[in-house]
Amino acid sequence: MICFDNVNKIYENTDTEALSNVSFHIDEGEFVFIIGQSGAGKSTITKLVLAEEKQTSGDIYVGGVDISQLTDKQIPYYRRSLGVVFQEFRLLSTKNVYNNIAFALRVRGASNEEIKELVPQWLELVRISDKANAMPDELSGGERQRVALARAMVNNPAVLLADEPTGNLDPVMTEEIMQILTQINEMGTTVIVVTHDIHMVNSMKKRVIELDNGQIVRDEHQGGYQYEY
Ligand code: ADP
Repeated sequence: MICFDNVNKIYENTDTEALSNVSFHIDEGEFVFIIGQSGAGKSTITKLVLAEEKQTSGDIYVGGVDISQLTDKQIPYYRRSLGVVFQEFRLLSTKNVYNNIAFALRVRGASNEEIKELVPQWLELVRISDKANAMPDELSGGERQRVALARAMVNNPAVLLADEPTGNLDPVMTEEIMQILTQINEMGTTVIVVTHDIHMVNSMKKRVIELDNGQIVRDEHQGGYQYEY
């Protein structure tokens, strides 16, 4: 599903080697944490998968596609095949919860019937149906992230990429988000969570890929993570 083969990334403006000979395969339906200290290279992996940056050398395949070969025109369509959530939620502040999710469907040309069917389904799945008419700034952080998850998933992407999804949340909300991520994974979506929240990683017992200084120092199936930074 996602394959990094000997990937190197040097940011030329600063001559920083952000990734060095990084190789891993993530199969369809896996749940994987990518962890490491600040500066380890986690965001660089996210940016490469989203085709926001290009690797300096090595190969990256997502769903069998060599993404370095995508043209500028193809990249937006490719990105729609991925669900993405970020630490800062990135909801549309002028749209209510329902319309934030509906917007993702409209962008890809979904019919009104589809929108009427899918938005309530996802509101229910992330347990936020009672806040359908609320504006983002009327929600707690955990509720905002649930809306962001529904919006990321409503187009049924094969992969959900979550970049520090619980970075702004307290432990109770973090637990809720992890339950929803688990549920999304059990529905068949490949889930990749980039984080430095070791407590969350420890409690989930999923595969852990650990980066240090741009290199993979650990890739443990049924992970867990014992150390404190
Ligand atoms: P993490 O997400 O684990 O904190 P990053 O992938 O953001 O790590 O960064 C890895 C290294 O690449 C760091 O040394 C960082 O300073 C550098 N880096 C990240 N983005 C850029 C950029 N756009 N230009 C130059 N250097 C960058």
